[in-house]
Amino acid sequence: MIDHNATPDDAASIGDAVIELLISERMLLDTPNSECVLNGVGYPPGPRLSEIYNFADRELAFWSELTVNGVKVHAERYVNFFAFPVFEHAICPACKTLFSDDESVMDQLYDCVGHFINDDRLNSLRCPKCSVPTRCDHWTTKPDVGLSYLGIEFWNWAPLSHSGWTLSIPELISNRLGRTMSNGWGKL
Ligand SMILES: [Zn+2]
Repeated sequence: MIDHNATPDDAASIGDAVIELLISERMLLDTPNSECVLNGVGYPPGPRLSEIYNFADRELAFWSELTVNGVKVHAERYVNFFAFPVFEHAICPACKTLFSDDESVMDQLYDCVGHFINDDRLNSLRCPKCSVPTRCDHWTTKPDVGLSYLGIEFWNWAPLSHSGWTLSIPELISNRLGRTMSNGWGKL
């Protein structure tokens, strides 16, 4: 999940509030550990997940079968690098053209990622169709690549937009905390 409206100043407190909310809803356990995520520490899945997620036939039992199954907050410059192996498209905010495999767009996007991570700059990405430059984080990408100050990674969870959920976590966060989270999945 990515919060594009978080700033360097409020990202940490928003991240904390999301974790507290998910703990209070018993979707996360309250003791973080370093085993449930690949680096750093994360919060393990809580007992309520089995009540609010309906597994399809033969679907992987994400939370009980996998040990890397925690939630980690990145309250800093965040790029969802895992989006690139499964990248579907980018959409120009000016002319709404969808680019699924355009070299010019992808080259510029990689450059923007580098400048953001290394120099904390959000450069413009110029549309090959309409030539309008728009700040890179205002382009729509699927999955969302981030370029934001707050990313919350759900390691090996069922996709948050999956039909098995009887309760939407992004909606819960929107209703309770007033934050709009976009969906940025990916693969290693
Ligand atoms: Zn355009």
